[in-house]
Amino acid sequence: MCVRLVRLLCPSRHCVIALTYESPDGEPIAGMSIEVVRQLAALVAARAIKPYCGVCGSRVLTPQDAPTRFASMVEAAGPEAAAEQSETARWAALARRARDN
Ligand SMILES: [Zn+2]
Repeated sequence: MCVRLVRLLCPSRHCVIALTYESPDGEPIAGMSIEVVRQLAALVAARAIKPYCGVCGSRVLTPQDAPTRFASMVEAAGPEAAAEQSETARWAALARRARDN
């Protein structure tokens, strides 16, 4: 198994949107490139993102599907991600306490 990263890139290789997925055999799954384009369309429809590169303004966006060095999403998240999540939760709790007092 391999975690793969699908990015929607402009010609200058600025990343507009990305998604990750686990590939059972490590090979690209064709539908994931379509999925990243579909997600961009959904975010544009929701007015959450513009349909072009925010850095250079290019409207030419191409999906690129590449393997990462991680075997699973759990491995990709790693202990740093878990520590970051607990730190975020701690700050959220402090913010709630400050707001409620
Ligand atoms: Zn760009």
